[in-house]
Amino acid sequence: DEARPRLKKWKGVRWKRLRFLVTIQKGGAKRDGDKEIAEFIDKLGTTLRPEKVPRDLRKCCFCHEEGDGATDGPARLLNLDLDLWVHLNCALWSTEVYETQGGALINVEVALHRGLLTKCSLCQKTGATNSCNRIRCPSVYHFACAIRAKCMFFKDKTMLCPLHKLKGPCEQELSSFTVFRRVYIERDEVKQIASIIQRGERLHMFRVGGLVFHAIGQLLPHQMADFHSVTALYPVGYEATRIYWSLRTNNRRCCYRCTICENNGRPEFVVQVIEQGLEDLVFSDSSPQ
Ligand SMILES: [Zn+2]
Ligand SMILES: [Zn+2]
Ligand SMILES: [Zn+2]
Repeated sequence: DEARPRLKKWKGVRWKRLRFLVTIQKGGAKRDGDKEIAEFIDKLGTTLRPEKVPRDLRKCCFCHEEGDGATDGPARLLNLDLDLWVHLNCALWSTEVYETQGGALINVEVALHRGLLTKCSLCQKTGATNSCNRIRCPSVYHFACAIRAKCMFFKDKTMLCPLHKLKGPCEQELSSFTVFRRVYIERDEVKQIASIIQRGERLHMFRVGGLVFHAIGQLLPHQMADFHSVTALYPVGYEATRIYWSLRTNNRRCCYRCTICENNGRPEFVVQVIEQGLEDLVFSDSSPQ
């Protein structure tokens, strides 16, 4: 009994049984499939890609690594708050974090708070929140460090350190960390927009639904009277982009850049159509419609 990992429980929280999909690679067949899909999507040409992929500067608040992680490792980055990112598995494998039926991760901020003070048993850096499940064992790791240290992972999202792991195979042991489900962290978008405005930084890029905000613009006192409608404000300098279906090419997407300027004391709405391989189109009008 002593050797069996104790079950992970949360007071007052209803249980959810997680189902895992395990992909078995058979003689490179999977890689061929991926290549085929990539080629097919390329041929379809409906997706837009940047000419050169810029360096991904987003950093995980748990493990401090830059950019998305390997799918079977830390996995993709999830947005927590303005400029705050966490790897899916770094968050999911934190001892206090659990997932709801709908795929929302709960307690991520609680884990982050503990991580500020807990150092990893392997790399000695802070942000370690994946604790050994044996009572009174002080070992705690970053998710990727726990893999490196050869910890034992279980299907109920618990982990045992190398010292306490089970000898021999166990049916509950997990073999793949790939998460195909949709998993997210609930973010308060209104609060995030408010904090961009309060910080007053013009360089922030922020996505809400299909819109990417580049600049929120500003209104001076003398402009107040003319730069609004009953339902909207028209701040001068506002800039947002949206990727949407092309006007000129069937079945292809392009980028629409929407800005608000001032023209003789009145707002002017400009839409610039940016499409790969074609000249930009510019439409402007005194009405947003
Ligand atoms: Zn991470
Ligand atoms: Zn570590
Ligand atoms: Zn332990």
